[in-house]
Amino acid sequence: DSSESLNFIEQIVAEDLANGLPKENLRFRFPPEPNGYLHIGHAASICLNFGLGNKFNAPVNLRFDDTNPTKEEQEYVDAIKNDIQWLGFQWAQECYSSDYFQQLYDWAIELIKKGKAYVDPQSAEKMAEQKGTPTTPGTPSPYRDSSVEENLEIFDKMKNGEYPAGAYVLRAKIDMASPNMLMRDPLLYRIVNKPHHRTGSEWCIYPMYDWAHGESDYIEQISHSICTLEFKPHRELYDWFLDQIYDDNKQRPKQREFARRNLSYTVMSKRKLLQLVESKTVSGWDDPRMPTISGLRRRGYTPESIKKFSEVSGITKRDSVTDVSLLEFCIREDLNKTATRVMAVLDPVKLVITNYPQDKVEMLEAENNPEDPKAGTHEVPFSRELYIEREDFKEEANSKYFRLSLGKEVRLKSAYIIKGESVVKDENGNITEIHCTCDLDSRSGSGTEASMRKVKGTLHWVSIAHAVKAEVREYDRLFLDEAPDSHEGKDFMEFVNPDSLNIIKEAYLEPFLKEAQLEDKFQFQRLGYFTLDKNASAEHLIFNKTVGLRDSWAK
Ligand code: ATP
Ligand code: MG
Ligand code: MG
Repeated sequence: DSSESLNFIEQIVAEDLANGLPKENLRFRFPPEPNGYLHIGHAASICLNFGLGNKFNAPVNLRFDDTNPTKEEQEYVDAIKNDIQWLGFQWAQECYSSDYFQQLYDWAIELIKKGKAYVDPQSAEKMAEQKGTPTTPGTPSPYRDSSVEENLEIFDKMKNGEYPAGAYVLRAKIDMASPNMLMRDPLLYRIVNKPHHRTGSEWCIYPMYDWAHGESDYIEQISHSICTLEFKPHRELYDWFLDQIYDDNKQRPKQREFARRNLSYTVMSKRKLLQLVESKTVSGWDDPRMPTISGLRRRGYTPESIKKFSEVSGITKRDSVTDVSLLEFCIREDLNKTATRVMAVLDPVKLVITNYPQDKVEMLEAENNPEDPKAGTHEVPFSRELYIEREDFKEEANSKYFRLSLGKEVRLKSAYIIKGESVVKDENGNITEIHCTCDLDSRSGSGTEASMRKVKGTLHWVSIAHAVKAEVREYDRLFLDEAPDSHEGKDFMEFVNPDSLNIIKEAYLEPFLKEAQLEDKFQFQRLGYFTLDKNASAEHLIFNKTVGLRDSWAK
């Protein structure tokens, strides 16, 4: 039964089809406001709307909801298009609410002529006061019954820039006693004396969201206008506006709502993300700690992992918070299948194999991915002097320590079994070199009896003479609190984690990584998953840690 795999929005569409909606009438849209970069919450909406398009083989428009020139910019338009395409979706038409400004204006004139809209010069405070409360009816504005001629004349002057911002608004005349406060004569237009990123200074009055949104859906002949739950009370207004302009020969869009995606340990509103950018708490919208699509991408997330996350967190009818560890689980699963295994040492200490010939270099074969035999192998140079992690050695250790210590054996990954022999220290007692001997018959894959010998513990390493130096950036959560923006009386900025970025200036990588390209994914063995940063160059390699190998977050 295919309906089992449909989410509740898809079921609504399937029912409409079953009730006679012609399949060719199906049309969806994703409607971002270009006032910031897309975040992981938007990804839910993108996956839902483009998912509807895929499932029902119907077009999906990308509609920029660009009705507020004070916050919108071309940079955001470009970033949004880029992110959607990177996720792997393609819109049917690129649309802009601003392309409909003339049509919206013409319809507003019709409303005035029908006595269903009026201009109001009162202050915002005064109008709010007159609205009353949900349990008491509002008071009609003294301008509610101005004549059509007067309204038309003033609205024309508003349009022509004859008034300063705030001098007048245009309001719909609906019902000042409605139990739905949004129906108590809502605003249609306000004066904003700011150039628009697309229409320049052509307009100085701009339509409000509610007026623009449903009518834009209607113009594009969208069948299902999907939005988040907070718009549920707006549905009545959405329908009222459509009633005013609706033509029987055309399709009438319907609004349906689903729950917003929230994620723990972060904030998701664009306004708050902008605050993080402007306060330089992060390096930009695509800082790898940001919950933006571009930040996640730079961090090493794949489109598949983000789509998987959207799928497993589901489309729901009630607001909830998804734990960020689920997002991390999705990327870990994906990278485990696809990332190339390499070796890197982040906190190096020198290891000398005293019985290995001085000038010998062996090219050893390393498996690219044990999960994928087709991934092949690459070569890793091995020599007498290596780096290993400082924390992989202890002079003395008990039997539960499976790393290197004096008198004990471990295997060097893809190479030999070695035994700790002695250490060299500086005047402060810090270890500067570890000396060991190696079982020269034990090379991995050589087929000898010694090569099959089991020892507890395998260490990663790099050959000092061949290693490439790199900067490695490790990230922790950007906020220390699970729900940073839900504490009354406290600003979310108070919960910023001061130690969310750790920069390792001198890490050493096997030389294979010199060839790394942007978006290549690697597992640094035993350390986690890493990807090249966008600012890396051949002279200055920079890797970002995407996620650790295991869920290391204390429960
Ligand atoms: P923000 O408060 O982050 O600015 P928004 O809803 O104002 O969010 P829009 O650009 O208007 O941002 O959103 C475009 C579409 O994405 C809308 O349909 C919106 O409902 C949806 N959307 C935004 N945030 C989320 C979220 N957290 N979960 C699911 N859908 C979302
Ligand atoms: Mg919005
Ligand atoms: Mg918004």
